[in-house]
Amino acid sequence: EAITIQELANRMAERAVDVIKLLMKQGQMAKITDTIDADTAQLIAEELGHTVKRVSEADVEEGLFDVADAPEDLVQRPPVVTIMGHVDHGKTSLLDAIRKTNVVGGEAGGITQHIGAYQVKSPSGDKITFIDTPGHAAFTAMRARGARVTDVVVLVVAADDGVMPQTVEAIQHAKAANVPMIVAINKIDKPDAKPERVRTELLQHEVQVESFGGETIEIEVSAKQKTNLDKLLDMIGLQAEILELRANPNRAAEGTVIEAKLDRGRGPVATVLVQRGTLKVGDIVVAGAEWGRVRALVSDTGASIDSAGPSVPVEVLGFNGTPEAGDRLAVVENESRAREVTDYRSHQKREKQAARASGMRGSLEQMMSQLKTSGRKEFPLLIKADVQGSVEAIVGALEKLGTDEVAARVILSGVGGITESDVTLAEASGTAIIGFNVRAHKEAREAAERLGIEIRYYNIIYDLVDDVKKAMSGLLPPTT
Ligand code: GDP
Repeated sequence: EAITIQELANRMAERAVDVIKLLMKQGQMAKITDTIDADTAQLIAEELGHTVKRVSEADVEEGLFDVADAPEDLVQRPPVVTIMGHVDHGKTSLLDAIRKTNVVGGEAGGITQHIGAYQVKSPSGDKITFIDTPGHAAFTAMRARGARVTDVVVLVVAADDGVMPQTVEAIQHAKAANVPMIVAINKIDKPDAKPERVRTELLQHEVQVESFGGETIEIEVSAKQKTNLDKLLDMIGLQAEILELRANPNRAAEGTVIEAKLDRGRGPVATVLVQRGTLKVGDIVVAGAEWGRVRALVSDTGASIDSAGPSVPVEVLGFNGTPEAGDRLAVVENESRAREVTDYRSHQKREKQAARASGMRGSLEQMMSQLKTSGRKEFPLLIKADVQGSVEAIVGALEKLGTDEVAARVILSGVGGITESDVTLAEASGTAIIGFNVRAHKEAREAAERLGIEIRYYNIIYDLVDDVKKAMSGLLPPTT
């Protein structure tokens, strides 16, 4: 528990210079953006005549999420699917085609609205929820906020174009998140479609499809001619069965905000994917630093509904402010509890912003100290290099560094410049980025700066390995 001097001063309604002066009296030099520990903060506050009530994260967040359900209360829930793949390979077309042909309740042709996710019925009668913001950026951004939303990734690869850079990125993102993949080989209607080539190219990225004796389900489709879409849905159903997706519908709801906006007429509107329990009109909810009483729930077909159960996407009206995509939603017992939680989180948010402004988060050094305190014994790294040979040499050398206590885990390695998507993945996975004989793209540099992710550049493998070794040895518990 630490606080910036600015935030401490704000909370006491004192001037930051007075706090700094007091610190100086105690022999501590500090800037306004520096953080001080809770004990020091308490001393300062008392010195300035304030009474201190310390609130810890555990106190406030206690019982909000992940309270276990009894196994007998769990029932099957629909899978939640995200479509990923290279630009122009047909993600949007596929989402549209599936939606138009399979709307739940058969409102096809009726007016459907975009709320960020929708539900369809597969030919075998199973419901499937699609997140309809395609792309790994959204996927990983959610994960970076601690939200696990997607059960299955559908990887779209155009048969006339084959595996492309963003295909590879999508594979890496899905693997990093440990989410199973189904490959949809799209555009098979095209005369120059080469589905076999796609299968072979996937092999080079360690994706072995079933027809090649592997475990990844693949299916040839055409979004344009609506070929095999039913089969794709059935395959998703099959994958879902294997995953045994279950949730308790009879409890207070938990979910994740998929999209949120401020609507002129309706006020803040958040699309929430309910993940456990049932969300009802009248519930008091918190999401991120916002709360509200649910005034109305609107389904993906625009219908006003009273409640939404597990895996159902729904627009929630009634928030006092607009939450952010990736915020987790929980139902709380009353307004004062909602205020307590969101007040606390607003403070936390401001502190984090201040901390971000004053220092880097995803740096090797910080990772080291974070891992040390969290007791994690894995050292995650993201590596980009100029050629495949360098990648292999670096990964090989890093793997050798592992001991019983700590090991490097390369969550992504690849050839080419550092992209914005690499930075998002680094944020989600809490790693630094290492570039070997490559540079970062402009957008990547900007994102890294914004998110506080360190990018380290090397051109000598020895230096790189040596630095990682040093960072890792800082992790090792002292020998007694
Ligand atoms: P996204 O960038 O992955 O979302 O790709 P889009 O869905 O926007 O599709 C890119 C282009 O490919 C569009 O011109 C689509 O009409 C076209 N397209 C998508 N699916 C198919 C298909 O199955 N067959 C053919 N021939 N064209 C397709």
